[in-house]
Amino acid sequence: MSQPIRTRFAPSPTGFMHVGSARTALFAWLIARQQHGQFILRLEDTDRVRHVEGSAEHLIKSLRALGINYDEGPDVDGPYGPYIQSERLAIYRQWAEKLIETGRAYADPYTPEELEAFRAEARANKQAFLYRHHRPTNPPAWDGTTPLRLKSEPKAYHWHDEVMGDLSSGPEVIDDIVLIKSDGYPTYNFAHIVDDAEMKVSHVIRGQEFLASTPNYLNLYEALGLDRPIFATMPHIMAENGRKKLGKRDGAKDILDYLRDGYLPETLVNFIASLGWNDGTEQEIFSVEELIDKFSLDRVGRSGARFDEKRLEWMNGQHIRNLSTNELAERAVNFWGESAKATSPERQREILELVKDRLKTLADLPLLTEYFFERPAPNWSMVNDNKQLSKLSNDELIGYLELARQKFETVDWDSNNLQIQLNGLLDQTGQKPGILFSLIRLAVSWAPFSPALNDTLAVLGRDETLARLDLAIETGRQL
Ligand code: GLU
Repeated sequence: MSQPIRTRFAPSPTGFMHVGSARTALFAWLIARQQHGQFILRLEDTDRVRHVEGSAEHLIKSLRALGINYDEGPDVDGPYGPYIQSERLAIYRQWAEKLIETGRAYADPYTPEELEAFRAEARANKQAFLYRHHRPTNPPAWDGTTPLRLKSEPKAYHWHDEVMGDLSSGPEVIDDIVLIKSDGYPTYNFAHIVDDAEMKVSHVIRGQEFLASTPNYLNLYEALGLDRPIFATMPHIMAENGRKKLGKRDGAKDILDYLRDGYLPETLVNFIASLGWNDGTEQEIFSVEELIDKFSLDRVGRSGARFDEKRLEWMNGQHIRNLSTNELAERAVNFWGESAKATSPERQREILELVKDRLKTLADLPLLTEYFFERPAPNWSMVNDNKQLSKLSNDELIGYLELARQKFETVDWDSNNLQIQLNGLLDQTGQKPGILFSLIRLAVSWAPFSPALNDTLAVLGRDETLARLDLAIETGRQL
């Protein structure tokens, strides 16, 4: 019987949830969901110096917001808890004692100064520093106040990585790594191996920064008598220009910021999944269900994926379009401007339907819809700034607006009839839509863009349209 699939996301609460860690979490989650396994959240908080207050809460909030739910974790009971490393110190201690008993771990007797001297000596001899070259012959018994080190067995390794392929290393990279630090906390190197074993983790999915240490982990698995898990190493995410690793200064925000800026969770999931993964076709827009169905580690690229914010924006527009108007209305609640909030849900939905295709983020809503909810003050400079309209005299412009007003007074007010009237106006004046429709659009919205004119007018209503045209005519006359 094959081993049950159990994957984990094991962040250190040392900062916020950024795109890279979200991708690691997402890929581990997709594997678990696809194979009907479990997904675990484990907080690796053994580095007391780098600990950031509020980080754990932020990570949990981000996972929840993206819909990456976990079956076991700090706040979800499971059979192998606790899921916070600082609460598992006794467990690491037991595993450490076992290694001491079997002669595979020893107390590090050196002061930091002595260690530095060894390093300096290696540098002077142009050799790589290896702690095991200085292994003490008669180490003192370990009392928990000095570091505990693995007594390594240098050898060559071959291993398989689901993403990186077949890898190998020589004995020269194997060293006596620290297992427990002098502050009593385990190192990441030791703790994650103990925890993955205790928590029966099947796949270790993590970032590229751990690849160089993997031979030492393999050595430690052997010393502990453990089977290796399946490894999958994620390549770096590169900055937009593709030349360096994505960093804080490249404008990539944390996950919650993207949500606050009006990106949908499903867009972020789709976008993050696409950083280094595709299904081998041209398809770019995937629902979460499709990702669960289609994701596979062997289609994750080995080289860095490029972070392209423009693409994220495009994807968001696509996902917004895929929402039903009711769903969109639910998501839009926190993004409406004040006047929209005071309007009935029916009217909000009517307007959403109109602008849906133009939304790139939900944060665009106020700008794109404000004029529906509040009568805008005429801004004639927009007429003057329009290349085509600026060629006409004010009298001509006002004449057109008056003609339109006349037609709109009697037409049956719906989008079809309005289109017929607008076409009639084109015939009657011999003008192009670029002139006539732009003029009317400005006069009723004073906005740089709006949905199709007939639809915009239909939603505005006759009374409001006529009132706005009157206001525009009056303003034009005064100039
Ligand atoms: N705590 C490590 C980190 O945050 C996790 C690495 C792993 O997944 O094993 O980078």
